[in-house]
Amino acid sequence: MVLSAQREPLELRDLPVPEPGPGQVRLRVRACGVCRTDLHVVDGDLPHPKLPLVPGHQIVGETDDGRRLGVPWLGWTDGTCRFCTSARENLCDEARFTGYDLDGGYAEYVVADERFCFPLPDEYDDVQAAPLLCAGLIGYRSLRLAGDAERLGLYGFGASAHIVAQVARHQGRRLFGFVRHGDEQARAFALELGCEWAGWSDERPPEELDAAILFAPVGALVPAALAALGRGGTVVCAGIHMSDIPSFPYELLWEERSVRSVANLTRLDGEEFLALAPRVPVRTEIEIFALEDANEALARMRSGDIRGAAVLRL
Ligand SMILES: [Zn+2]
Ligand SMILES: [Zn+2]
Repeated sequence: MVLSAQREPLELRDLPVPEPGPGQVRLRVRACGVCRTDLHVVDGDLPHPKLPLVPGHQIVGETDDGRRLGVPWLGWTDGTCRFCTSARENLCDEARFTGYDLDGGYAEYVVADERFCFPLPDEYDDVQAAPLLCAGLIGYRSLRLAGDAERLGLYGFGASAHIVAQVARHQGRRLFGFVRHGDEQARAFALELGCEWAGWSDERPPEELDAAILFAPVGALVPAALAALGRGGTVVCAGIHMSDIPSFPYELLWEERSVRSVANLTRLDGEEFLALAPRVPVRTEIEIFALEDANEALARMRSGDIRGAAVLRL
């Protein structure tokens, strides 16, 4: 499924089977998760993707020699810049991202730099493993950057929050879920996943929070989440794109509250999270689509109408 121009639907096309270059493996794609970032690429929120582009960066595939590997968003780094040499390859000057700078997994075949691929835990079949590769990984990094917060707010209950909630409960944290005003289904989902309280995103929780993670790409949630924090609390913005953040009184940031974003992933995040997931155990709730229905999967995500994660199965 190919993106020829942003803000246009993907097109089903026949492409040549890609040939792996030096250091790359070729994978027969078994499943590919659909991420909100794919939607931002298609909708033009993120500038300058490779075009034409095969989107998709939560790829579960089988190599030519029969090994199952996962391909994540971080597809290549230079290994030499000041970020790479200080354990921050997620910020690499020259990073290339799967399904953005490199062709991704909305296809039958993909090539990937083997150094950035992950072996996947056997406990997960292909479609269940796919959402671990971004929703899970980025969620895990966001959770790490939320520090040791005991009372944790999660804003937006999509693919990432549904995984993070399980990990956070496993770690013994207390969870408070925030969903779109009036979305009773999402509220029920948040409660099912272990939130002790779930309400609308403009509501105050019954207690002050120690941290909040924003998965919804809505800038207005930043001051709302700050207002829900206690002293010293952190708001972590987990998405790659967000609408503008409205101005807010300094009082909301005062007393050492902070706002930060999470960008991409490191390979270490992947190794840690993929080892942790089966121990929790994280169970991914998925809705399966055929490759040629990728536009429908994206449309359903755009309208907030996916429970858990959407996955293309090949
Ligand atoms: Zn670098
Ligand atoms: Zn993603």
